[in-house]
Amino acid sequence: MPKARDYIDLEDRLGAHNYRPLDVVLTRGEGVWVYDVEGRRYLDCLSSYSALNQGHAHPRILRALNDQAARLTLTSRAFRNDQLGLFYQTLTDATGYPRVLPMNTGAEAVETALKLARKWAYRVKGVPAGQAQIITFSGNFHGRTISIVSFSSEALYREDFGPFTPGFVTLPYGDARSVEAAITPNTAAILVEPIQGEAGVIVPPAGFLTRLREICNRNNVLLMADEIQTGLGRTGALLACNHESVRADVMILGKALGGGVYPVSAVLADEAVMDLFRPGEHGSTFGGNPLAAAVGREAVRVILEEGLVENAATLGEYFIERLAEIPSRHVREVRGKGLLVGVELHPQAGGARRFCEALMGEGVLAKETHENVIRFAPPLVIDRPTVDWALERIARVLKGG
Ligand SMILES: *Cc1c(COP(=O)(O)O)cnc(C)c1O
Repeated sequence: MPKARDYIDLEDRLGAHNYRPLDVVLTRGEGVWVYDVEGRRYLDCLSSYSALNQGHAHPRILRALNDQAARLTLTSRAFRNDQLGLFYQTLTDATGYPRVLPMNTGAEAVETALKLARKWAYRVKGVPAGQAQIITFSGNFHGRTISIVSFSSEALYREDFGPFTPGFVTLPYGDARSVEAAITPNTAAILVEPIQGEAGVIVPPAGFLTRLREICNRNNVLLMADEIQTGLGRTGALLACNHESVRADVMILGKALGGGVYPVSAVLADEAVMDLFRPGEHGSTFGGNPLAAAVGREAVRVILEEGLVENAATLGEYFIERLAEIPSRHVREVRGKGLLVGVELHPQAGGARRFCEALMGEGVLAKETHENVIRFAPPLVIDRPTVDWALERIARVLKGG
């Protein structure tokens, strides 16, 4: 029987080296727990970057997946299917947005939103052809396509990948005044993450989204929220924008929309924006397929019907409070909202990676984001005793080292 080392060697020998995973070889998952090929159990504190808000192998989601897989998986959008409309219904009921455009990955949904914003700028706002600008923020993460990395501030994501797509402006995250100053008659949209997950769980100053909303209203600019990571309960609200009662004009969802089993993303918007797309202008072979629709629908219902939003709020607050109480000379700051939590270490701590490796030894899987931040984002089905179980181990690692 192959050992962990054999699987690792096989991956490293045959695969592209575009990731640097922790060397744990997982073979099974259930709820908040995952198991490696040697039978060891770990608490999943990453949830595949919040794609597993409902936990591993959620029985309702597996049933939706299996039932639909046995019936009909793919029609392309050349034909209709009996699942897509129901998925739309569930999403629009849950979010209050009247229109949905389904895609597969997060990056595709962001690309869709960018096209939508440009089209709106030319057709509605009256921006001269080819002149539309979209405001983004430093530290952003919106995916890996050439257009999306065109406005990344991360050298690693851009180096050697140019030439880039023009039409983007990148401003300091959290600084509404610089946004105000950067608006021109050609500004189509502002694209923002309510909390920057990949940047290291960066929470902007209170009122930032509200200020952006006001700026957009005053200047006839679309506010587009990328809630691929923060959405669907992660931060203790269904959408992180809800914390400030801000309604974005365009809402981008992904990750947990696929219930941890299948890639499902979507762009949500009002009629006035979404109805600008005409047949043929945008699409995807797999987008909106019946399997994705059935899974996505159940993924949303599980979050709503099992109280996962409330659980993230309650346990997130508890988790952050208790983390902040851990006496550790390595910790600089504990921050986050709901169950999206970052522990920033001092630069002298020797990097977050070695703490993640130590946590793995304790049965807690977390991943460093940038040099000095450990992100904790367990599935939202976690309970308080399990949070306490994790805290005990995290404390041991943070106090040591
Ligand atoms: C993960 C993520 C994306 C990209 O999603 P993919 O499915 O990996 O393409 C975009 N935006 C945010 C905020 C994300 O966290």
